[in-house]
Amino acid sequence: MKTIRLRDGKERSLLRRHPWIFDGAIASGSADAGETVRVEGYAGQFLGWAAFSPSSKIRARVWSFDETQRIDASFFIARIAQAIKARSLFDIQSDGRRLIHGESDGLPGLVVDRYADTLVAQFSSCGTERWKDVIVQALLAQTGLTRLYERSDASVRALEGLPEATGWLAGSGDTSITIAEHDWKLSLDVAEGHKTGFYLDQRDSRQKFASTTRRLQFERVLNCFCYTGGFSVAALAGGARHVTSIDSSAPALARAQANVALNGFDASRSTLLDADVNASLRQYQKEGRTFDAIVLDPPKFAPTIKHAERAARAYKDINRLALSILEPGGVLFTYSCSGGISGDLFHKIVASAGTDAGIDAFITERMGGAPDHPMTVAFPEGEYLKGLVLVKRPAG
Ligand code: SAH
Repeated sequence: MKTIRLRDGKERSLLRRHPWIFDGAIASGSADAGETVRVEGYAGQFLGWAAFSPSSKIRARVWSFDETQRIDASFFIARIAQAIKARSLFDIQSDGRRLIHGESDGLPGLVVDRYADTLVAQFSSCGTERWKDVIVQALLAQTGLTRLYERSDASVRALEGLPEATGWLAGSGDTSITIAEHDWKLSLDVAEGHKTGFYLDQRDSRQKFASTTRRLQFERVLNCFCYTGGFSVAALAGGARHVTSIDSSAPALARAQANVALNGFDASRSTLLDADVNASLRQYQKEGRTFDAIVLDPPKFAPTIKHAERAARAYKDINRLALSILEPGGVLFTYSCSGGISGDLFHKIVASAGTDAGIDAFITERMGGAPDHPMTVAFPEGEYLKGLVLVKRPAG
């Protein structure tokens, strides 16, 4: 067993059970890609068992803080069982759900989603890459499923020195799948879609949007950054008369259109626009066109804190525009999935967007990712998705 020793003082985050060890924290020791190493503090005390990543800035990720734990097949079988069992803590109204959420489930570098009868896995660290076969077998055995598609094409693979890898690891067949979420159905493609195919993390927000639409009887809804139309279908299910959905991806829009039809909604209730959201919002403002409800769910503007300032301006811009074209009494559901923007900062950005738009709004709710994307005490980075629900106050 190889050992890596940390510099003096660098053991602190591990003692708080944070699993990342950065290259600069290591005084000595090295290992092969994905190899399990014993991590010791400067004085030689045991800190954890970790997977080594020779070329990543995150040089090692801790599997276990328990000195008696062996990192072997049974370790992965047990961790996967724990993660799947933990899902029973949560109310998940869908057959699409995240089964393993990386660090938050004690499996750094592993994401596994289940879409109906199909599993989709992303291996984004040397450690999970090395244990891939064991992990795949354990997932199939514990879910009783036979299809598992790999989506290891996230850009973080390059930071680990790993090539992209996609395709069936078990089973085969159509990569287009339909899930049943809340009162509606949504189709997605595990090979072509973003991430593992779909944004499961917005499940609870889609339901809230449907129920708010129903309660407040919104007529004209605008879904910005609609992707495959999850919020659009939610709005139509909530009784919206008409939904305009905007995205800059043609395949996403085609899927959104299919999803409107899949749920039996008349196509006349839906307009899909292949356009830039910022430009569209400006155009609506110029035309004096307004909406009763707006969703703003943009891509990650700030992956890390380094990008926060420019991202803050971009968030503020779209929120200012959206608030200005919202009817008084109308509702804005606005999100940031940027790890580099904290919940408090996002709140401030949206507040100052309101000030700039010359409006006031009730902030009726703070939203987060659906609970199958858990946050833990030890790993604050797990909180990436934050949302606010605002009701625009009448002018005056
Ligand atoms: N709300 C969606 C997920 C949104 S993901 C859901 O619930 O499933 C973000 C989307 O923004 C992607 O589909 C991407 O194609 C789109 N996008 C990125 N930049 C854009 C831009 N400038 N204008 C319009 N769409 C954009």
